[in-house]
Amino acid sequence: MISVAIDGPSGAGKSTLAKRLAKELGYIYVDTGAMFRAVGLFALRAGKNPKDAAAVAALLPQITLRLESIEGAQHIYLNGEDVSETIRREEVGMAASGVATIPAVRAFLLESQRAMAKSQNVLMDGRDIGTVVLPDATVKIFLTASPEARAERRLKELCQKGQPAAYETVLADIRRRDDQDMHRAAAPLKQAPDAVLVDTSKLDFDESFALLKKTICDKIG
Ligand code: C5P
Repeated sequence: MISVAIDGPSGAGKSTLAKRLAKELGYIYVDTGAMFRAVGLFALRAGKNPKDAAAVAALLPQITLRLESIEGAQHIYLNGEDVSETIRREEVGMAASGVATIPAVRAFLLESQRAMAKSQNVLMDGRDIGTVVLPDATVKIFLTASPEARAERRLKELCQKGQPAAYETVLADIRRRDDQDMHRAAAPLKQAPDAVLVDTSKLDFDESFALLKKTICDKIG
């Protein structure tokens, strides 16, 4: 089986690029961030602090997640409810980053993430795919961009969704999430030694796509 691991900070364009690449290569796209977001959403709905390890760990037995690919788009079901849209909200992203610091949550999701790569060719995106989830991935990419470039893209996205926000607020959120993801004890965001670094700060979508595709194809042969 071929596995492509794409890790990097939030807002580097990972998921949009990964989705398109998976489609082009004919691989199953696995967005592991969506799994952490669904757990974060469950914690918020249960009225728990997403960083409270004991409280969140106690919720895990009540959670069943299912990923399904519908016309190439990944849908995620939380106890049977399609939460694919709901999990995209800003507060759910922060909650995801909170629950992701809890080792019990990471262990809860790890096995299903690994199982998905055993039976099919996958392109998996996240923070620790190349370092922890699939240390033997066929191709590892660390996709990044400067916090400022990521804030500008996020701002555009929010504007298109009719949710305008202030640049400074978006930039502060990105820095806060980076800090939380990079400095946690459990599976922190970092580049695997054998990952190829791709910086998209100065590239547009098509240029980033072409560079990633070439990087993957060069490795796969
Ligand atoms: O990628 P996305 O922004 O959807 O991920 C939400 C949060 O889930 C991240 O900020 C990160 O803390 C966490 N995450 C993680 N490990 C992964 C994927 C996501 O810790 N493999």
